[in-house]
Amino acid sequence: MKRTPLLIICLFLLRTAFPQVAIDHVEPPFWWADMKSNALQLMIHGKDIGKTKAFLEYNGVKVKNSTSTGADYLFVDLSVGNSAKPGTITISFKEKDSVLITYKYELKARAKESAKRIGFNSSDLMYLIMPDRFANGDPGNDNMPGMLEKADRTNPNGRHGGDIKGITNHLDYLQKLGVTTLWCTPLLENNMPAFTYHGYAITDLYKIDPRFGTNESYCAMVNEAHKKGLKVVMDMVFNHFGTNSYWMKDLPQKDWVNQWPEFTRSNYRASVISDPHRSQSDENKMSGGWFDTSMADFNQKNPFVAKYLIQNSIWWIEFAGLDGIRQDTYPYSDKDFMAEWMKTLREEYPNLNTVGEAWINYPPQVAYWMDNKTNPDGYRSYLSNVFDFPLMMAIQKAFTENEGWDTGLTRLYELLSQDFLYSDLSKLVIFADNHDIERMYPVLKSVENAKMALAFLATTRGMPMIYYGTEALSDRGTLEGDPGKRKDFPGGWQGDEVNMFTRENLSSDQKDMLDYITTLFNWRKGNKTVQEGKLTHYIPEEGIYVYFRTLDKASVMVIMNNNEKYVKTVATDRFQENLKGYKTGKDVLTGSQIKDLSKIEVAAKSVKIIELSK
Ligand code: CA
Repeated sequence: MKRTPLLIICLFLLRTAFPQVAIDHVEPPFWWADMKSNALQLMIHGKDIGKTKAFLEYNGVKVKNSTSTGADYLFVDLSVGNSAKPGTITISFKEKDSVLITYKYELKARAKESAKRIGFNSSDLMYLIMPDRFANGDPGNDNMPGMLEKADRTNPNGRHGGDIKGITNHLDYLQKLGVTTLWCTPLLENNMPAFTYHGYAITDLYKIDPRFGTNESYCAMVNEAHKKGLKVVMDMVFNHFGTNSYWMKDLPQKDWVNQWPEFTRSNYRASVISDPHRSQSDENKMSGGWFDTSMADFNQKNPFVAKYLIQNSIWWIEFAGLDGIRQDTYPYSDKDFMAEWMKTLREEYPNLNTVGEAWINYPPQVAYWMDNKTNPDGYRSYLSNVFDFPLMMAIQKAFTENEGWDTGLTRLYELLSQDFLYSDLSKLVIFADNHDIERMYPVLKSVENAKMALAFLATTRGMPMIYYGTEALSDRGTLEGDPGKRKDFPGGWQGDEVNMFTRENLSSDQKDMLDYITTLFNWRKGNKTVQEGKLTHYIPEEGIYVYFRTLDKASVMVIMNNNEKYVKTVATDRFQENLKGYKTGKDVLTGSQIKDLSKIEVAAKSVKIIELSK
């Protein structure tokens, strides 16, 4: 008994002489040899690591700098030269001449196909999936140890159990539908107490949420998708992160996040950024205010944050073999940082592209964010693609209104007449709804209207995107708010009565819509004219809107009839400058021949798409 105090004193002395240093995070967790850029910055977190400096001996790799930003943080700048071969680097962390801890860091070989990345373009159909709500491929991962929120399918704001396996299981279904590109809302860890299903409060930027799967199962999904000719776009969030991240217990630097004397929300007014009359305080609040109490706002003006985020995106592209990126809340991040990010990515992956969510209502404000736009303030975004939010708003109104001077189909016409504002029309991602917006079917009020909107998306300029459940005619039912836009996909859970995947118990309207989308987008997949052709449209008259897509000697004619009445003959004299030389056509949706282009019949509330022939 008497020896115990002595033992404690000895242990105490031993500990003082050889202090315990620990490493619990090294980010990025590994890297690759032979990247175009030689610079790599590691963020290392662990007890007392901040008092050390990094040393290593490895052919072609050098330590440029060790920067301590706190007791438990060390940033290590490495130079990974072209002569560095894949292998394991032993990094020694020393205080004076004593090695306090070592770490084995892996330099992997790059995948050969990495350089072949082609990105997404106007030939593609993007399909947006909210993974928690699409299909539960593995009920065993619905609840996972250490994850705060448990699955509860009866809670409209809760986790329902959908996962990566569920998506992987149904790639054939998506391919058959005509989909060529998948965009999943974020799959990274969101270890928050509630509302984690949507994925936008990321708590670990290097880890797939275990309730969705693993980093390896994500890679496997991308591989499977590639085998089936599908591209994969990752949803990234550079504006904010979930406040349950280990960072919030001990920030890497005080200005890692935007700090305010008291909690300050963003004003969410994205138009501020390009507004020539903006006040500085409005701009500060827009980009420096927090998106929510549960989402800490990254300060991308801090060069360590900037490097961290840029490397994180490169890491996922390289690790998972991504084809593209969707970037969340684009104008909320520091715009100069975002341009720097895009430039850096372009150097490493010249053909990979990124679509930015600049959710603004007017075309000039959206055009501001597209690369090569000449902006009055000199800003160049280097962002390849933007979502066409203004067109979405026009689509949600055009088909349900009476035709008037500035209502009905004229909305589409007027919106497209402003296309001179955009630097590249093929880079607009066009859509009728998404996970944040009221679904198209309930808004458009009928199957006919929804079909018209889809035919428009398939045939006008840009790259179409549809939201999961569109083919199932999903509506909000009795659900209020966001849950009504994010209902479970029918057939994604064992025992679902209606199953889109097997066509079991579909209503006749659902069957009709599923077939319509399949026919429309599979045709589009193989038709270069409609993907790339020059658009010429004619002023809508009496509820009839006609336009052409022309490429070389091929032409596609589109006639929309927004009237409740069948139109026996659409007078085509007015369209002679596009019809000249063409004698017949093929109705793309029915396959029937049109022998006389001077008299074209169009059913009430429908779109006729005609491949013209000489
Ligand atoms: Ca699951």
